[in-house]
Amino acid sequence: MKRVGVIGGGQLAWMMTGAAEALGIEIVVQTPSPTDPAVEFAADAIFAPIDDPAATAELATRCDVITFENEFINLEALKPLAEQKICFRPRLEALAPLLDKYDQRCYLRDLGLPVPRFFALEAVTSTGELDYSSPALPTQLGLPVVMKARRCGYDGQGTFILKDREALESKLQQLGQTPVLLEEFIPFERELAVIAARSVSGEIVIYPVVETQQEEQVCRRVLVPADISPAVAAEIEAIAHTLLNSLQAVGVFGIELFLTNTGKVLVNEVSPRTHNSGHFTLDACDTSQFEQHLRAVSGLPLGNPSLRCGGAVMVNLLGYEYSHNDYFAKRQQLNQLPKSHVHWYGKAESRPGRKLGHVTVLLESYQHSEAQLIAENVESIWYGKNG
Ligand code: ADP
Repeated sequence: MKRVGVIGGGQLAWMMTGAAEALGIEIVVQTPSPTDPAVEFAADAIFAPIDDPAATAELATRCDVITFENEFINLEALKPLAEQKICFRPRLEALAPLLDKYDQRCYLRDLGLPVPRFFALEAVTSTGELDYSSPALPTQLGLPVVMKARRCGYDGQGTFILKDREALESKLQQLGQTPVLLEEFIPFERELAVIAARSVSGEIVIYPVVETQQEEQVCRRVLVPADISPAVAAEIEAIAHTLLNSLQAVGVFGIELFLTNTGKVLVNEVSPRTHNSGHFTLDACDTSQFEQHLRAVSGLPLGNPSLRCGGAVMVNLLGYEYSHNDYFAKRQQLNQLPKSHVHWYGKAESRPGRKLGHVTVLLESYQHSEAQLIAENVESIWYGKNG
């Protein structure tokens, strides 16, 4: 297979284009704007919203298999295309249980995987007010409680940690008719993530489990490998196996987890695509997650996911102002750090919280305190007094 269509043309698709050439693969993207990061490096592009099925039908005429950069797709509209034998990898059936956070939680629970206690919030009266008498109200979840928009949340957009009923009520008012999920707040000791890939023939490879650090629900840093016991690592690998096999998944999947202070693992979220927590693989592993994804969806054997160094620290370069600056001087400074690799997504515009790039620093051996210091140093260069 030579041509892979990607629905989406942001930084994840851009990083896929970087891996394509060596595999003899050409990338065709469907993305809204000619200035989107992947466009310049793709062999071909269709400029259309990612949920436009007519554009996806056109995409199908220009490639052998279609894959996804993100999950904000219109699954219903793609079904007729799949019926016409257009090849989607992962299959639409593997995406279906994952696109809505409530459906995803139900799917994981029904598989017997550990998840926080949750339910869909249906205790809203026709006037839009909370019905406190409803048994569906989350008194048993305790406070704080976590509210999540069921669809299209990312980087903490659509995830709210609410400390009391008043905050819960006002957030609901604000969200209007947006369907939401409520779940218990997990006072986690650490957040973990793992990237796993499954091939067309059912082979599975799993990258080292990593520690992720979020601020205001946005990933800031990834420390590799996570400092966890072999038992916890084995449990997470078993979760990845169960999940990918059950979905009959093809491609790379990102799984985010909570680790509690009693050593309990809970799945927070599954993303049916390459993931921010796997960006370190570009510089630190034999096969990057982007190459791995292309290998899987184009029917090639999977590559070796092992680390080729003692560890790594990945720091996201998030926008902290509105500007058109390309931050060249700061990027140079970051490039000069020992064993650092700066990846800049070439976005035309910066705004607070927007992912503009990332830096990975390779380590000879992993020590949590050292990794943390390196991350702090990168952030002090990047954010300066804005941090
Ligand atoms: P998104 O899809 O926007 O990334 P997530 O569901 O992954 O949203 O949540 C983003 C972050 O919010 C998590 O990484 C975590 O830090 C925090 N969070 C989410 N759910 C919970 C929870 N149940 N308990 C505690 N923190 C949570």
